[in-house]
Amino acid sequence: MIVRLDFPPNYEAINRRFRLDQFDKKKFKPIFAYGLFIFNPHRTKIPLELFEHEKVHSARQGSNPAGWWDQYLADDNFRLIEELAAHVIEYKVLVDHHGKTREARRRIFHHVASRLRSPLYGYQPPLHYDRAREFLKKGLKEIDKMTTRPMPQGGTITNPNRNPTAP
Ligand SMILES: [Zn+2]
Repeated sequence: MIVRLDFPPNYEAINRRFRLDQFDKKKFKPIFAYGLFIFNPHRTKIPLELFEHEKVHSARQGSNPAGWWDQYLADDNFRLIEELAAHVIEYKVLVDHHGKTREARRRIFHHVASRLRSPLYGYQPPLHYDRAREFLKKGLKEIDKMTTRPMPQGGTITNPNRNPTAP
């Protein structure tokens, strides 16, 4: 993928949906996969695990990044499935490089599960931490299926909107 220090072409739609302007820009510096590009408007350093995360989005966008983004913005369940696929790879990369001990892997799991429920993703209601852990655990079991081709819509994930245990 090629990194561009610019906003993605659909940034207006992204911002309308997630109100990114409201987040602390020192803390949240989102990057965006769009086709073969990673858009990095805040010029943040992209660690390997995030590069691999964005590669998953790119692969699953295939030749239709615009259509993927439309669904990503409109559909909480689709967004969660897509993020789960990317976070699973993020977890794998971190474990490959820093997960020698069980304690290290436990910390990495916590880190990635916490990122999966980031407020940036705008799940309504917010995704509960325990649910994020459950999804990540499930995703790790299905890793091969998840990274190579899009899951059928709905997948095996329950819509967070219908999650009675969410806050
Ligand atoms: Zn992502």
